[in-house]
Amino acid sequence: MLYHSTNNPAHRVDLKEAVLRSLPPDNGLYMPDKLPVLGGDFWKIWRYLSFQEIGYAVAEAFFGEDVPHDALKDIVEGTLTFDAPLVTLAPGDHILELFHGPTLAFKDFGARFMARLMGWLTRDEDRELTVLVATSGDTGGAVASAFHNVPGTRVIILYPEGKVSGLQEKQLTALGGNITALEIAGSFDDCQALVKSAFLNQELSAKLNLTSANSINLSRLVPQSFYYIHSARQLPEGVKPVFVVPSGNFGNLTAGLLAAQLGLPVEHFIAATNRNDVVPAYLSSGDYQPRPSVATISNAMDVGAPSNFVRMQALFGGSWDSMKAKIHGVMFSDDQTRAAIREVKSIHGYDIDPHGAVAWLAARQWRAGHPGTATISLETAHPSKFPDVMEAELGKGVIEIPERLAVLADKPKVATKLGTDTAAFHDYLRSI
Ligand SMILES: *Cc1c(COP(=O)(O)O)cnc(C)c1O
Repeated sequence: MLYHSTNNPAHRVDLKEAVLRSLPPDNGLYMPDKLPVLGGDFWKIWRYLSFQEIGYAVAEAFFGEDVPHDALKDIVEGTLTFDAPLVTLAPGDHILELFHGPTLAFKDFGARFMARLMGWLTRDEDRELTVLVATSGDTGGAVASAFHNVPGTRVIILYPEGKVSGLQEKQLTALGGNITALEIAGSFDDCQALVKSAFLNQELSAKLNLTSANSINLSRLVPQSFYYIHSARQLPEGVKPVFVVPSGNFGNLTAGLLAAQLGLPVEHFIAATNRNDVVPAYLSSGDYQPRPSVATISNAMDVGAPSNFVRMQALFGGSWDSMKAKIHGVMFSDDQTRAAIREVKSIHGYDIDPHGAVAWLAARQWRAGHPGTATISLETAHPSKFPDVMEAELGKGVIEIPERLAVLADKPKVATKLGTDTAAFHDYLRSI
């Protein structure tokens, strides 16, 4: 399969280049040349398949021409080591819990798959693949955890000293093995500038076989479509779900569109956002106006220029009419989100995080206008990741930190301290 840039259909690359490069040189995004469809045989048996079996079928549809079946099976098995349970709060009101992975957010699905696929794509190279990443918190943790113990890869994470939370720091510094943490005496921007300087240095970039685990990497989208199919099959036969996706960069929603393209029956998609509502505004007006983001309590969705919007446009052939026929956009304020966190707790006894709460509000509004429909709201992170908001709404000590994160607190921090000097950073990279 070949992949082309959304900016230039004639710029085509193979899977290895699309995945290791992440971004085409023309700043578009990579899309598969042919969008796969799963055959009728799959849709006869899909309700009886396991999560992993659904994963193989989807992965094979996208990558089967380039990656042998057994390798793909290992990649999917290594990715899906945890479930995505569907919880029913009330008839028609379903929550898809995507936070059972090691870093408690849905990004684990994409990051774990990408790490394993990158490891496989570089399996014959005698040099290790070095993933260089600057982080202000969560991204670094998901990437570190995803690449931990993946053969042929190592990760170097730069984070600003004193500017990440204690548990976040442990997610970066306590894994050991092929994960190295650099504690930089500077800001997040300094970390990013250092990473950029290494990529721009051809000698270093070649010597270390550098890659970035960029969030718009195409290989992160495909595994996110697995759980759309896995959750839909748990509804009664004949019931088509309305998927409600709390969105920022719109990777998660794009993965849902890929699942529909594969043949999954979907009634509708809802793009639920906080005040950063560039896409809902586009859906109602036809006018796309990216703008600087504003800070909200659902901060992983504070995006003013969603990077996957061009992929969504490509999937609808650039037609606003087709997009709005399939996707409804809606926005909720922080006050509404806070009230929803309290309401979901008092009515259903369920702890929902601020991102999931935005989705739940959109789902409730949709069901009110479309009685009898079944909504599946994506719960993208565990509420314990947002202790301040959860405590303010539900009180102290209500939300427990899951064991898999809590154990990190007792592990020792191992980090190398460096300044912001570019030459010294490059010397360090040459020495490893
Ligand atoms: C990244 C993230 C989102 C937004 O997902 P996109 O794919 O960028 O739209 C929503 N919720 C949480 C918790 C996230 O980490």
